[in-house]
Amino acid sequence: MALNTVFPEVHNFLSKPTQLFIGGQWVDAVSKQTFEVENPATQQVIAHVAKGDAADVDLAVDAANKAFKTWRYEIPATRARLLFKLADLVEKHTEELAQILTLDNGKPLLYSRHECGAAAHILRHFAGFATKVEGRQVPVSGAPNGAFLNYTLRDPVGVCGLIVPWNFPLTMCIWKLAPAMAVGCTAILKPAEQTPLIAVRLMQLFEEAGFPAGVVNLVTGMGIDVGQPLSAHMNVNKVAFTGSTMVGKAIAQQATSNMKRVTLELGGKSPNIILPDADLSKAIPGAAQAIFYNQGQVCTAGSRLYVHEKVLDEVLDGLCKQAQGMKIANGLDEASTMGPLVSERQYDRVNRYIEQALADGAELLTGGKRPEGFDKGYYLEPTIFLDREEKACISKEEIFGPVLTVMSWSDTDELVERANNSIYGLAAGIWTQDLSQAHRIAAQLEAGSVWVNCYNVVDPVSPFGGYKQSGWGREMSHDVIEAYTETKNVCVNLY
Ligand code: NAD
Repeated sequence: MALNTVFPEVHNFLSKPTQLFIGGQWVDAVSKQTFEVENPATQQVIAHVAKGDAADVDLAVDAANKAFKTWRYEIPATRARLLFKLADLVEKHTEELAQILTLDNGKPLLYSRHECGAAAHILRHFAGFATKVEGRQVPVSGAPNGAFLNYTLRDPVGVCGLIVPWNFPLTMCIWKLAPAMAVGCTAILKPAEQTPLIAVRLMQLFEEAGFPAGVVNLVTGMGIDVGQPLSAHMNVNKVAFTGSTMVGKAIAQQATSNMKRVTLELGGKSPNIILPDADLSKAIPGAAQAIFYNQGQVCTAGSRLYVHEKVLDEVLDGLCKQAQGMKIANGLDEASTMGPLVSERQYDRVNRYIEQALADGAELLTGGKRPEGFDKGYYLEPTIFLDREEKACISKEEIFGPVLTVMSWSDTDELVERANNSIYGLAAGIWTQDLSQAHRIAAQLEAGSVWVNCYNVVDPVSPFGGYKQSGWGREMSHDVIEAYTETKNVCVNLY
């Protein structure tokens, strides 16, 4: 599919100036400034988006505080109904939303469609939670039974600043907005400056679904102009962030202004482990998907592959074939399985890591350069290095691109130590037919998600988040409901 065959409604959407959404109104930034958004496959400017700053954040925070006064008391079944309606709208517009995602982020249409499907699924999951936010009745331990009625309530935490990255521009918004809306919080959404377009279209769908004015607000712009004042704001009660560990640390500090609640989903350098008895017909494509999916721009990417020495040659051979078999093309091409990286900055960053890996003595097995036939766009071949000594910087640092580092191992205890030897602890994978061994290793890994004979199975029922510098708190599952609520204890003397 070429750009001239995208839906007319997508052309129409891109041709209109995109504004901020504050208090139910579409408005220009106070400064009247805009910024350009580029298609990473062609490097063409496809839209001009309102460039918000602290003045717009103030207006959005005021609108969200005003809306919170009523939204928090909205009938839970009404909140659920609105979320179900939004899910239906996302599903109805999947093809259009997928095209916007691909134009903005570069990812293949196939994966943009998956993202829309996941967004609808997560919205429905949390719509169900709106009517199931419960407290507990707890007997007072130092009094006769029945003397007190002692119970807990869960109150919405309040106005939430939601700051999201560019790698999953739709689902990252939904991961945060769905539970926030379900429990009665209001929100200011700040999408990544590289991929703001889907958030703009999402606000239009919120409007169409009938969410009251001010319940959800959008301020597009740069991290320093919008994300920083939002996370430091005195009238914001919580900030939920997904992105780099470096910015996560800054946000944690900014949030101390009023001791706002903070959840952080940060970087990773996740170990993926192949045992000698693994079914290699599954482990090899699984390990390739674990790193190359979404051009490697995934926080859980299985970027450190530990292969048992007995099967190393076979795995390396299979992995190189998988990498070379990927169809690198503009994401709008239905055959594409790998699109461009998101931006020039990200492309340069990943290339710098490839140069450093070579300087560090890692062996380049495949890839490592721009594919032939592309004179525009931030395309990069899927790349595999073997790092025998595990000394190259690519074995330690998060690259956030399609670059795999393979290492071999022989002793299980030493393997676990090496796998845990990271500042991160987001995810891990284990490939084996010996499930006792899999459970033993899983119990020892310092990671928020461990996948056995699969990878990146992310589902709203499963808590998601990291150990160590991969973040604070958990998203998804029951856990996220706690992250968007405060617990109140009420104690009543019955005598
Ligand atoms: P980033 O952390 O700089 O940006 C993420 C979001 O934070 C964006 O919306 C950005 O505008 C905002 N932001 C930036 N500075 C801010 C500040 N001081 N206060 C508040 N908000 C701020 O990520 P990036 O520059 O887009 O990517 C850099 C690296 O981050 C990547 O190479 C990758 O390693 C990592 N990353 C991780 C994830 C993840 O899901 N864990 C996602 C994207 C990027």
